[in-house]
Amino acid sequence: MTVRSIASATTAAAAFVGAALLVRPPSAQAFDVTGDALDVFHRTVRVFDNFHAATANANSHFDTAFPGYNGAELAIWKAAIEWSSERHGSGSGDPQQPLDLGSGGANFDYVWLGLATGVGSIDDNTCSELPGSGAGVIAFTETPTSDGWRIRFYGNQNWYDDPNKTQFFNSLDLQGVATHELGHALGLNHSSTPTATMSASISGSGLPWRSIESDDVAGVQSIYGAKSAAKPHIQTYTFPSAGMVRVLGAGFAAQQNELWFTPSVVGSSTPVIVSGLVSTAGGTEILAPLPAGIGGGDVLVKVPGSAHDTLSSPCPFDLAGPPCETPKTYGVAKLTSTGSNAEIGWFGEASVTTADLELTLSGPPGGSPAVLFWGTSKQQATFRGGLLSVGAPLRRHATTQLDFFQFASALVTVTPSMVGTTRYYQWWYADAADPAGCGTSDALELFFCP
Ligand SMILES: [Zn+2]
Repeated sequence: MTVRSIASATTAAAAFVGAALLVRPPSAQAFDVTGDALDVFHRTVRVFDNFHAATANANSHFDTAFPGYNGAELAIWKAAIEWSSERHGSGSGDPQQPLDLGSGGANFDYVWLGLATGVGSIDDNTCSELPGSGAGVIAFTETPTSDGWRIRFYGNQNWYDDPNKTQFFNSLDLQGVATHELGHALGLNHSSTPTATMSASISGSGLPWRSIESDDVAGVQSIYGAKSAAKPHIQTYTFPSAGMVRVLGAGFAAQQNELWFTPSVVGSSTPVIVSGLVSTAGGTEILAPLPAGIGGGDVLVKVPGSAHDTLSSPCPFDLAGPPCETPKTYGVAKLTSTGSNAEIGWFGEASVTTADLELTLSGPPGGSPAVLFWGTSKQQATFRGGLLSVGAPLRRHATTQLDFFQFASALVTVTPSMVGTTRYYQWWYADAADPAGCGTSDALELFFCP
């Protein structure tokens, strides 16, 4: 067993840089690999939360993008997620990298299992505190890692878990340091790029380490390959009836798919697996019974085989259903004859529960008729001096009229059958003083939630 450590001492950092220059010339890609790789059945992560400092478990807030966990567990879960092949849901959850959690781009994703009941053996894929101190070392990963790993954080350090904490004297960011250690667990050595998360020496609290850099991305991709087009992907999920879950995405196998869920049982070393599942709709849907013993966490799809790309990225999973997402505008708002752009907007949420969704249009001349229309795909076609941004077939709402304030709105009723689906909305309006006589707004992508 070897122990890889990160050094907080300046002398160790200087020695490391010197050594790096001896073995290779400076290059744009300075990552280094251990030779270890985690196969698709050994990518689990658990936390034994024995952190003694109150600051390590100060965050009592639950993040809808990370269902079921807060405190040190949440910080370490986010650290694992940063290495994911793609964005985790919308990528939200870390104020230090808005909408950018999940940056690995490789055929590699960690599988979140939640809490462990002890520090475990050196191959139990568990993170925990180790009482005491290490000379110049703040945390380490026990290797070799191909058959599993264990990460220890020294107890003499002031660990903190606050997602927003940017300044805290003489303290260390649990999420940032965990991101670094989990880089060792997946098979990376220290990088000679000073700004990389896998740099040997920590700067300040380690907060910048939360976000992996291009050198780290190149490193994880060198071990597992850049994310394959065949790698399964989960977009979202719905509960079509009691006790059933429908997973929606792409790249699912025709048969023998598995769903992997985060267990609710503390101490489980494996995900809760539902196996033998067929897919429908061209490999984009899987319908399965909800198994017992699952909780908030992630769900992944495993297709047959053992290649690195047979496991999907994790999708945040909550038994209450997927969280509502903020609508996204796209396309181009046409300049109207009033000198204002024709802009789409919204009030409320795209939710069955809140039942308050209203789409708005502002900009075109007061008194002009306007029509809200929608479809289930995007396009980008020129239309009357502007853009048609919704793909056919188009469906329309009733004609309305812009008021004196150049404003119009339309209510959208969200029904249960719409949950888990996406629609694209745009406004048409008349504009008598425009050479084309009419125009279109920019467009809105809406994902409907329970
Ligand atoms: Zn290290």
